[in-house]
Amino acid sequence: MAFSRVATPSDNDFSQGSNNVERTLILIKPDAMARGLAGTVLSRFEAKGLKIAGIKMIQLDEALLKAHYRHLADKPFFPTICEFMSRTPVIALCLEGLEAVEVCRSLCGVTNSRKAAPGTIRGDLGMSMQANLVHASDSVDTAKAEVARFFSEAELFGYEQPVINFLYASDERG
Ligand code: ADP
Repeated sequence: MAFSRVATPSDNDFSQGSNNVERTLILIKPDAMARGLAGTVLSRFEAKGLKIAGIKMIQLDEALLKAHYRHLADKPFFPTICEFMSRTPVIALCLEGLEAVEVCRSLCGVTNSRKAAPGTIRGDLGMSMQANLVHASDSVDTAKAEVARFFSEAELFGYEQPVINFLYASDERG
């Protein structure tokens, strides 16, 4: 039996030239884990049509948190983020699809769950600014860095998903 791993998104189910195929990093945060909402959060992304390229449970340590939240290191709430994000293991996901970075950000909703629009993950499931269920990379460049920070090449998988022929129009598949 032959096994294959594909580490780049564009040479998998989409034909070459579909250069809007992106991978992004999602973290299912400790509040979602503790509330038994990990499956609910994951199913929102799956139902939308994002493909799981990588998935694992991980306990965030200080070094990883400092790197991941470097842009917030000067904020007064930085220590509480680190405490919150290490309270339970999290589930890290690498999700793939056309314009996946922006699609996932939209699905999550704005940072403050109380202000997030109904229909979004945070808007439907949360009440907090900090305990907002989910992290999603905020740009294509950030996504590349974050996926590489959380996943090795060997942990990212390419595999056929025949539904792709119905999920996207033929011109979108390249
Ligand atoms: P986002 O996760 O929506 O991209 P940020 O990158 O600005 O937002 O912040 C990272 C995380 O830090 C947020 O998801 C949230 O958990 C936490 N956070 C942001 N702002 C605050 C704040 N003012 N008070 C407490 N926690 C915050």
